[in-house]
Amino acid sequence: MPTAPSKKEPIPQIDEKKACFALEVRPSPIHRWGIYAKELIPKGRKIIEYTGEKINRKETNRRADGPLNYLFTLTSYWTIDGSVGGSGAQYINHCCTPNCYAWILRGHILYMSARDIQPGEELTIDYRFDHDVAAVPCACGAADCRGTINLKKEPKPRKKAARKATKTTGKRVKTTAKKRSR
Ligand SMILES: [Zn+2]
Repeated sequence: MPTAPSKKEPIPQIDEKKACFALEVRPSPIHRWGIYAKELIPKGRKIIEYTGEKINRKETNRRADGPLNYLFTLTSYWTIDGSVGGSGAQYINHCCTPNCYAWILRGHILYMSARDIQPGEELTIDYRFDHDVAAVPCACGAADCRGTINLKKEPKPRKKAARKATKTTGKRVKTTAKKRSR
């Protein structure tokens, strides 16, 4: 079930210095707050940088236990905590058919447009939680929603198909392993 922010909660702010397009924060049908385009964003453009405090693995494990967290896995050791000094990108919700993707460039996390995004559309990204951590149900509403924010465990490719599978799953970008409880 999507949860709405309480009426008393202040509306989160977007750091305009980190954003390349006009964006706004509104309650989202997916989860709490969402980030919306206020103008057309063409495909393949940097929209906003995901900023926050850089924390190590031990501190990440400690903070991951909170009821609501905004942790973006940068490497196997470093995590960016968007709840401390976040640009607003930490409020971009998960969707199984997202219109944004993350591009990690020299330690910076850039949220890019995966297609043209129309004014008024909510920005979304695939959080790609591991399949071996606690399952988080998904409420993204996409036609091909996989049901959880976690990735499905991929079956081992058979020998014949292995070469093709490697090619199509080779990812340029390691995207998020944010954890967020509902
Ligand atoms: Zn979904």
